[in-house]
Amino acid sequence: MRNILVIEDSPMVLKILDHLFRQESGLQPVFCASLGEAQIMLESAASLFFAAIVDLHLPDAPNGESVDLVMQYQLPCIVLSGSYNEQRRDELLLKGVVDYVLKESQHSYEYAFRLLHRLESNSLVKILVAEDSLAARQYIRHILTPHRYQIIEACDGDEALRTLQAQPDIDLLVVDHRMPGISGFDLVKLLRQKMKRNDLIIIGLSADAKGSLSAKFIKHGADDFLRKPFCPEELNCRVMSTLERRDLMRALKQAAQFDALTGLNNRRAFYEQGLQQLKHAQRAGQQLSVAMLDLDFFKRINDQHGHASGDSALVVFARAFAAAVPDALLGRLGGEEFALLSQQTADELAQTLDRLRQHCASLHYAAGAPPLSFSAGVYQGAPDDLESLLHQADLRLYQAKHQGRGLTVWQ
Ligand code: GH3
Ligand code: MG
Ligand code: MG
Ligand code: MG
Repeated sequence: MRNILVIEDSPMVLKILDHLFRQESGLQPVFCASLGEAQIMLESAASLFFAAIVDLHLPDAPNGESVDLVMQYQLPCIVLSGSYNEQRRDELLLKGVVDYVLKESQHSYEYAFRLLHRLESNSLVKILVAEDSLAARQYIRHILTPHRYQIIEACDGDEALRTLQAQPDIDLLVVDHRMPGISGFDLVKLLRQKMKRNDLIIIGLSADAKGSLSAKFIKHGADDFLRKPFCPEELNCRVMSTLERRDLMRALKQAAQFDALTGLNNRRAFYEQGLQQLKHAQRAGQQLSVAMLDLDFFKRINDQHGHASGDSALVVFARAFAAAVPDALLGRLGGEEFALLSQQTADELAQTLDRLRQHCASLHYAAGAPPLSFSAGVYQGAPDDLESLLHQADLRLYQAKHQGRGLTVWQ
C-alpha cells in the first residue's frame, strides 16, 4: 500500500479525489486541508509517503508554498491548479514537480492517477540518453528525474551501443540525430535489426528543421520523435505514452501465451514452443518424452465442492506440477488436462510423476475436498511429429483411466 499525501482545501475536489482513491486498492490518501496541517504531517511522517498531490492555492499558502514544502522532503509532487498560467507552469516544471494538472474534468484527475501508477513502475525503468551535447544531456536528465526513472548517459552513438550491449535491460533510448561518429538515425537502423520494439523503445531527437527526418526515424523503427528545442512536458508525455504502449503490448502478449488461471503455457504456446524443441531435438538426434496428465474425477470436485474449489485444485496442481518438472515444457491444454515435453526418458519421467502423485495426495486446496489425484500417459520417441507423440501419450492416458485412475502408463 502506498500512502499519498493530498494537500487540498476544496470540498468538491476532495470529493472527486476520494472517489478515485476508493477505486485504487494500492493507494491510500492522507488528506491535509492547509499548509499548516501538511507541515505537521510531514515533520512527523514524511518517510511514510510515496508521493504528493498538491493544490497550488491554499488559504494559508496562496503562492504555491505547498509545492516548496513537499519538494523540501523530496517527494514526487503532482500539482493541481484551478487556473492555467504558462509562465507558472514552466517555473514549476523546472523546479522539478512531476506534472501540473488542471482541475478541469474527470479526465485530468484520472491523468494524475496515471502519473501515480507510472511513478510506481518508473523506478524500474532504465532510460539511456545518447546525446553529444553535455548541456542537452543535463537538461534531459533534469526533466526526467522527477519521474523517478533510472537515467544513464552516452555521449555518442558508439558509447550508446556499448552501453546497450553491457546493459540489455535498458528499456528506452532517447537518441539525438547529429552526433560525432554514428548518427542517431543510423543507430536506430542498426539497433532495430536485432531489438524489437518490445525490447527497446526508441525516441529520436533532432534540431534539424527538415520535417521529413521525423518520418524517416519512425519508418526505420523509432517509436517517436521530438524536435529540439522541446518543453519538459513534451518529453515526459512521449516517454510516458511509449512506456504505456509497451506495457500494454507486453500484457497482451502475456495474455495470449499464458493460461490466466494457472499461469502455465496455454495450448497454443505449448504447441509453438514444443515444435521449436522438436526441431532442436531432431538436429541433435535426441529422443523426447511427452506426458499427458488428467485430473481424476474432477467434475465431482466442481459438483460437490463448488467451481471455486475446482479452480483452486487446478492452481494448486499446476504449482506442484511446475515444481516437479522444472526443466520440462509444460502446458494446460484445456480443462483439467495438462501436457509436458521433456528430455528425461519415459522411465525417469514416470518415476517423477509417481513422486508428484504422492505429493498431490497431501496437498490442501479446499476444505473437505478429496485428495488430488491424476492419471498420466507417457511416451518416448523420435521427435518426428509433436501431434503423434502427444497422441501416443494420450492413448496411454486413456489406458491409465481404464485401469482405475491414479496411475501412469508408460510402456
Ligand atoms: P475423469 O477422471 O474421467 O477424467 O473424470 P473427470 O470428472 O475429471 O472428467 P470430465 O471430463 O468428466 O470433467 C472435467 C470437468 O472439468 C468438466 C468441466 O466443467 C471442468 N472444468 C473444465 N475447466 C475448468 C476450469 O477452468 N475450472 C473448473 N472449476 N472446472 C473446469
Ligand atoms: Mg547533437
Ligand atoms: Mg479428468
Ligand atoms: Mg478431462
